[in-house]
Amino acid sequence: MSGLLGRLRAPRKSPTTTSNPTFDQNGHMGMAATPGVNAGIHTQGDYFQQSAQPPPQPQQDRPLYLCQPFVKAALVKGSFKTIVAPPKYVDVNEWVAINIFDFYNNLNHFYGAIVEFCGPHQCQTMSAASGLDFTWPDQNKRQVSLPASTYIDYVMSWVQRLLEDESVFPTKSGRDFQPSFPSTAKHIYKQLFRIFAHIYHAHFNEILHLSLEAHFNSLFAHYIAFGREYDLLDAQDTRELRTRGGGVMWLTDRWAEMGILEGGEK
Ligand SMILES: [Zn+2]
Repeated sequence: MSGLLGRLRAPRKSPTTTSNPTFDQNGHMGMAATPGVNAGIHTQGDYFQQSAQPPPQPQQDRPLYLCQPFVKAALVKGSFKTIVAPPKYVDVNEWVAINIFDFYNNLNHFYGAIVEFCGPHQCQTMSAASGLDFTWPDQNKRQVSLPASTYIDYVMSWVQRLLEDESVFPTKSGRDFQPSFPSTAKHIYKQLFRIFAHIYHAHFNEILHLSLEAHFNSLFAHYIAFGREYDLLDAQDTRELRTRGGGVMWLTDRWAEMGILEGGEK
């Protein structure tokens, strides 16, 4: 893969010191201390064109992201199926790596746009739906509840380190992906999915105020379409979201009905 590292933008470091997850053989996470990561907003590119949506109008108890017109706000018209297909002659691992790199950077920019609303007092847990908080395994593998900002900082720092690790995301010619790459990619995908779920659940108002809903929906629809195509989504997370509140999985179901996404269990 050429140029992946060259495209890495230096993230803005957060003032806090955080820990990064590491995975043992069973895929359980531990922590190792490294600086945290956050980023400001990017104003160019496919997901960042200006949109012209009316101001938010709350309807009943339904989350705003499931309400019209926001549920159908997107920059890409039609199905996402075609844009997730690998270009000819590109290795699947490389295609997955490039896309994870882009998803990570775009998601980091969106989080940077709303991070001031995601402090430890506003978001005391990594909430993703009514009654559903994601927990984090501590060094003794006990599941602990963390403020969302801490949780997200851990994830972003950990992914950043992996992206910069030549043995995981090789950029030099002659270096191959390790056999463990698909598993690593799935772990990354699972954690970035949780950040999407938290932003939709806790910060969609801020996304609307910044007129970013079309861009954010497009990024998430692309993320889900890509994850389904390459089996990267975590079945347990998506099942739990469906059974304990629905959350963003209801959004993906609506998109399937509209033909934006293929239908899928995950
Ligand atoms: Zn938050």
